[in-house]
Amino acid sequence: MKITKTEKRRVYLDNAATTCVSDTAFEAMKPFLRGSFGNPSALYAEAREARAAVERAREEIASLIGAAPHEVYFTSCGTESDNWAIKGSMRAQAKAKGRKGRFVTSTFEHPAVLNSAQALAGEGFDVAYANVTDGGMVDEASFAQALGNGADLASIMLANNEVGTIQPIARLGEIAHGAGARFHCDAVQAFAHIPVNVDDLGVDYLSVSGHKFHAPKGVGFLYVREGTPLEPFMDGGHQEGAMRGGTENVAGIVAMAAAAREACENMASDAAHIAALRDELECRILAEIANTRVNGAAPRVPGTLNVSFMGIDSASLVELLDERGVCAAGGSACSSHEGEPSHVLVAMGLPSERTQSALRFSLSNETTQDDIDYTVGALKACSEQLQPFALLDLSSF
Ligand code: PLP
Repeated sequence: MKITKTEKRRVYLDNAATTCVSDTAFEAMKPFLRGSFGNPSALYAEAREARAAVERAREEIASLIGAAPHEVYFTSCGTESDNWAIKGSMRAQAKAKGRKGRFVTSTFEHPAVLNSAQALAGEGFDVAYANVTDGGMVDEASFAQALGNGADLASIMLANNEVGTIQPIARLGEIAHGAGARFHCDAVQAFAHIPVNVDDLGVDYLSVSGHKFHAPKGVGFLYVREGTPLEPFMDGGHQEGAMRGGTENVAGIVAMAAAAREACENMASDAAHIAALRDELECRILAEIANTRVNGAAPRVPGTLNVSFMGIDSASLVELLDERGVCAAGGSACSSHEGEPSHVLVAMGLPSERTQSALRFSLSNETTQDDIDYTVGALKACSEQLQPFALLDLSSF
């Protein structure tokens, strides 16, 4: 792995928080930072090159998800895509129907979705939540119940950001549509890691963020099925079909398309490599460190592993691992400074011994066997330091 700026060994296992920009994405964006730096809305050569690159990127991304180019809107991040889809859809439908309808989501969504739901509730919309199982799956009966006699929009994530579980989006979408609701899917942790096709999933809106698959931070996209209600995200110029004014992040958009293409082309081999290392890390932690439990049952995205080190405070373990050169997360990146147990694990109904002691390891195609060996060694040493009885000495049995 590449983040060895110092002589000290570093192992980066927090790819669900963000990834290193790939060589391909970096090379793709360079010409648009300096040479072809024009504003895509202008009329001279540098601008026309920038416009053409943005539209090529739109076509590329559309083809990767089975959409038409005009159904892809570039945004600044996954949070923006989620906010726009949820608030933009609910407000547009409220205007058209002359009443504020119901929004349904699950209790273990990302804060971008949960806080959008809270904002809608504050505006007088009706908001209902589906429960999740202890294995990290949305409870389908609870989802159907939350939809009740009718809703305007439902939003469920494709892969959970903390435990990696993959939700049956096509089935949940059918249930939502059956209740008359439009269906949004937060695919931020899934796109470019597992196949994502908007028709196979049956979604009306889909959110993606570039920095989760080796594009730079500050760029994402929202897919909106043609004819689906949506208010503009912000008022401004004519960019993005006058739905999201603002000069386009040309270099970021081009880099995102290049990273997406590369990830989708290499998906099968990357997934096999990553899942094999993830499974080895999981097996060795369970076998070599006592009182450990895996959170989240299959199916999971290839790179994510969430483990509770019972009896050990997760923040202390993250700090000690960092000192030994291993980057892991003690909850999602967004909540890891808040000192609260993960809302995802709480929503799954796990006891406090598990929610307070959970760490997320997330691998990438740059993770090596050596990284896993080193991490297991570091984990054993850190667990022993924090909880002297956590390591079983099997040789004495
Ligand atoms: N949705 C999910 C599932 C995520 O994991 C994240 C980020 O971790 C987001 C949304 C927000 O994405 P961004 O960081 O690009 O705003």
